[in-house]
Amino acid sequence: MTVYDPNNIFAKILRDEIPSHRVYEDDAVVVFMDVMPQGQGHTLVVPKAPSRNLLDADAATLGPLFQTVQKVARAVKRAFAADGVTIMQFNEPASGQTVYHLHVHVIPRFEGVPLKPHTGQMEKPEVLAENASKIRAALAG
Ligand code: AMP
Repeated sequence: MTVYDPNNIFAKILRDEIPSHRVYEDDAVVVFMDVMPQGQGHTLVVPKAPSRNLLDADAATLGPLFQTVQKVARAVKRAFAADGVTIMQFNEPASGQTVYHLHVHVIPRFEGVPLKPHTGQMEKPEVLAENASKIRAALAG
């Protein structure tokens, strides 16, 4: 199946039908914490416009999306005093995509600390809430 499914989990988060640890929202994007982080502060930037992934996205979605990716990358680097930031984005199952609404992973990186497995272990809600609050503060400051 390669059509957009409006009942994917991120579409439900965008419609506030299921909870998320939100960091930021504007007309074009929502930013929230990944529940199975590959590193401390792993954040997802999700455009509101529906597309399965980058391959079927409207080009007009990409400018605002990546402007926010840059803002969030700078904010997480500051919030966690990270040494670097990894940006990842998967398209279709062969690439590792598991949720079929376009999104970009923003992951703070620390020298010598490898990424944890993709969709590995669930993080505690209180840790996600605290990390979201640190990133919100960094975005505001
Ligand atoms: P991808 O494999 O690129 O489609 O990544 C999907 C990401 O969404 C994974 O990193 C999951 O840990 C994450 N994820 C899955 N369900 C949720 C959820 N309800 N809230 C936040 N992140 C989620």
